[in-house]
Amino acid sequence: MSKQVRVRFAPSPTGPLHIGGVRTALFNYLFAKKNNGVFFLRIEDTDQNRYVPGAEEYIMEALEWLGIAPDETIGKNEKFGPYRQSERKHLYKQYADQLINSGNAYYAFDTAEALDTARKLEEEQGKTFIYNHHNREKLDTSLIISTEETAKRIADGSAYVIRFKTPVNETLHMHDIIRGDVKFETNLLDDKVLFKSDGMPTYHLANIVDDHLMETSHVIRGEEWLPSLPLHVLLYRAFGWEAPEFAHLPLIMKPIGNGKLSKRDGDKMGFPVFPLDWKTEEGVSSGYREKGFFPESVINFLALLGWNDGTEKELYTLEELVAAFDLSRVHKAGAKFDPEKNKWFNHQYLVKQKDEDLAKAFAPILAEKGFTVSENIVTKVVSLIKERAHFVSEFWEMSDFFFVAPTSYDEKASKNWKEETPALMQELISVVEEITDFTSMNIETIVKDWMTKNEIGMGKVMQPFRLSLVGALKGPHLFDIVEVIGKDETINRIQKAIATL
Ligand code: GLU
Repeated sequence: MSKQVRVRFAPSPTGPLHIGGVRTALFNYLFAKKNNGVFFLRIEDTDQNRYVPGAEEYIMEALEWLGIAPDETIGKNEKFGPYRQSERKHLYKQYADQLINSGNAYYAFDTAEALDTARKLEEEQGKTFIYNHHNREKLDTSLIISTEETAKRIADGSAYVIRFKTPVNETLHMHDIIRGDVKFETNLLDDKVLFKSDGMPTYHLANIVDDHLMETSHVIRGEEWLPSLPLHVLLYRAFGWEAPEFAHLPLIMKPIGNGKLSKRDGDKMGFPVFPLDWKTEEGVSSGYREKGFFPESVINFLALLGWNDGTEKELYTLEELVAAFDLSRVHKAGAKFDPEKNKWFNHQYLVKQKDEDLAKAFAPILAEKGFTVSENIVTKVVSLIKERAHFVSEFWEMSDFFFVAPTSYDEKASKNWKEETPALMQELISVVEEITDFTSMNIETIVKDWMTKNEIGMGKVMQPFRLSLVGALKGPHLFDIVEVIGKDETINRIQKAIATL
């Protein structure tokens, strides 16, 4: 039997989850579910300086909202817990020691000043200082001082770090599910810090130890972690552990120009880059949820940022994504973020909602505007306008005339109000007054018959009629509006237009 698929999303709680992080979580989720595996969430908070209160809760809430909550995490099926690295602090030291004992790591006592001097010295010669095999035996490390001296310094409480002793002159051959075979020269690596004398591991050590202990089968993460892959592969080897498989996802790129999508792009072009609102003292960074995106639409959109199933299909439920997802079909090249497509997806999900549900979502907006409208009417209105909406938040602007008579008339459209118009509108009132079966189709038939019989041109009536009811030449089918607002209101509005225009 092959190993159980166990994948993780391992964010650092340094702020709100960026949309790129959400996509990483989603691809992990899809891969886990596709392979009847486990998707877990581990909080990587070993860097206390970058810890932001609230970020962890935000991440959990975002995944819940999106419908891709982890199977295991803090407070949920803690099979390999704790799932917060700061609570695993006591675990890491022994692994750092193990690497020291096997000759794969060493203590370094260099002070910040000493390192600064060494760096400047190299720079004066036009070189860049890299802490590696070139100089590790010239610096203040346990590689050159005696074991006794090392032990004494540690016992005395000298500050130290434990660094990885990168092997020299080796070409590393690695494999990435998305990128294929990758080669790397170990001489180009620096000896990364794994552990600090404050008792905290660095990201690299904690990440590898935890992925091992939590039986991670595949590491699926953003491309920005590809440069760490050689070190990680070397760490697994140094521990004598089987490494998981790796897949580095393409970056999400700016809509226009080159480079990684940033919050600034979103601010500039008016789209969110965070799943939920993120509030700080400086203000609110808007989220997909609060902007009125459906979680299903965000998921669908993100799934196609860097992946497709080889067909033209664009609309997928989460279940369909799970069934179709294939890591080896993830693209290598960066995926351009398209804000229009993002909205298009939301429109697709909006029209799929039941009118009753959309009416429920619209009702609070109406209430806020001071309207108490029967559920039937709201449902009907919603059914008439949703084809052109991306968000429920647009409903009011698209439908205000259903609830309130126009208070002004669009200037350009008013040009259609001619000399003969008031008389025609007066006649129209008489026609409307007589209609008993006040349904859209019947009203339309009667009004059009009247126009045909009297040889009145369509434009002569229809445009001023719409202007009277809506205040502009916009909105859904005119006779649908007439039906919803009713006979009296229709007549009132025409009279008002005659008096005003
Ligand atoms: N803590 C890292 C992050 O913030 C995890 C990277 C990884 O998945 O290895 O993304």
